[in-house]
Amino acid sequence: MSEQFDVIVIGGGTGGYPAAIRAGQLGMKVACINAWLNRDGKPAFGGTCLNAGCIPSKALLESSEMFHKANHELAAHGVKVSGVAMDIGAMQLRKSKITASLTGGIGALFKANGVIGMEGFAKLLGKGQVEFTSHAGDKKTLAAKHIIVATGSEPVRLKITPHDGERICDSWDALDFTEPPARLGIIGAGVIGVELGSVWARLGSKVTILEALPTFLPMVDQTIAKDAQRQFSKQGLDIRLNTKVLGAKNTGKEVVVEFETAGEKKTETFDKLIVAVGRRPFTDGLGAKEIGLELDARGFLKVDKQYKTNIPGIYGTGDVIGGAMLAHKAIEEGVALVEQLHGEHTEVNYDAIPSVIYTTPEVAWVGLSEEQAKEKGHEVKVGLSPFAANGRAKALEAAVGQIKVISDAKNDRILGVHMVGPYVSEILQSVVVALEFGATTADLQLTMHGHPTLAEALHEAYLAVDGRAIHAINKKKTA
Ligand code: NAD
Repeated sequence: MSEQFDVIVIGGGTGGYPAAIRAGQLGMKVACINAWLNRDGKPAFGGTCLNAGCIPSKALLESSEMFHKANHELAAHGVKVSGVAMDIGAMQLRKSKITASLTGGIGALFKANGVIGMEGFAKLLGKGQVEFTSHAGDKKTLAAKHIIVATGSEPVRLKITPHDGERICDSWDALDFTEPPARLGIIGAGVIGVELGSVWARLGSKVTILEALPTFLPMVDQTIAKDAQRQFSKQGLDIRLNTKVLGAKNTGKEVVVEFETAGEKKTETFDKLIVAVGRRPFTDGLGAKEIGLELDARGFLKVDKQYKTNIPGIYGTGDVIGGAMLAHKAIEEGVALVEQLHGEHTEVNYDAIPSVIYTTPEVAWVGLSEEQAKEKGHEVKVGLSPFAANGRAKALEAAVGQIKVISDAKNDRILGVHMVGPYVSEILQSVVVALEFGATTADLQLTMHGHPTLAEALHEAYLAVDGRAIHAINKKKTA
């Protein structure tokens, strides 16, 4: 007889492990099956986010920024340093320790919440059954009333740029470089392209980013995106828009990349190339086809608003179901689904998903850009506030960038806030709360922000919407 569970979660990344913990908290008998193996062959919970994405990349962004500051910023504070050198090995060791402490922590959380963590591969068998194969190859069959598929995503691999992990790399390979490549090419000026480009540029690589689209960060308000592009270019990132990569070849010594720009075919040579052209859903070996589980044309698991697939008792959350491929979106989906299975009425607000690019300055946004708001037929009013007028930003030697508030001119509701500037990821969260509560610009204009803080720039931007900013020249703009 197969062991019976209330819930089996397939996948121990951010779409899966929080769902398993919530199920445990709600008294359900739950197992979380996770196939992830790190490059040292060791299994780990936490998925891409903790092992090969968000957390290790933030560790490297911080270390490389320290090196950059030591070389370029400390002098402005009167701090004299000499002989600044980077120990890449120590940087990578620190990164690994951070990820190991977090992934190990999931085991402790499982224990505390009665979740049975199982390391190995899960295959759907139909009729509420799952085949589990341990990493050692032992098999057993489990059964559950509810099965949650949270198998995540993996980097898109292009046939024209055959991945070898040595010179033609993906984002995971690029987190493990042992030295900065002298000439680093990156395909795709998306979130991964600019974050990893920043890391290695700060450590000495000459970075060239080839982007097929004519617009930089098209999902971000273009006032903010253009400002960010200016800052990144000043830092030495060579961002080439309208540049479509046609192919790449590892010659054994370097990578030759062929691309088309302004109707002309060109080639350029790099020491390493990172392919950062998006991620695809991961359902390999899951048994979806065999049991008739519906995937869409791009391979995403098809679910309805309650995360139900076409097969009763099977659900999906996180990257594998599509939408924003963000850890926090996956976490909220998993938790909401489990609460629904427990009879509660939980919902995820897809209109208030925060997004952040962890460069310096950071780019952060939630809600609509001015372009998107107009496309949707809103009459908008906007407020802009530059960090150049913010005391805390000046004291931090980081007074660059700006905040843009986009409000509905008819009912004064905040539609979106997009920003580029110091630590704006932290400022963004108050906007998420404001959107959740359906705040108007007037509500937020009346909200006191501590002085001196970076968040004061946000208050100024709310005021600027109605031409009331105190520390900026007001430009009232309506469409
Ligand atoms: P992306 O979709 O954000 O960007 C990929 C870019 O590659 C696009 O702009 C696309 O136009 C371009 N491109 C595609 N084919 C090309 C070609 N042949 N030549 C030139 N350019 C080409 O994808 P990503 O940066 O790989 O990120 C993957 C996912 O991971 C995204 O959903 C992202 O949101 C998520 N992620 C988020 C964070 C964060 O929240 N900070 C960090 C990393 C990744």
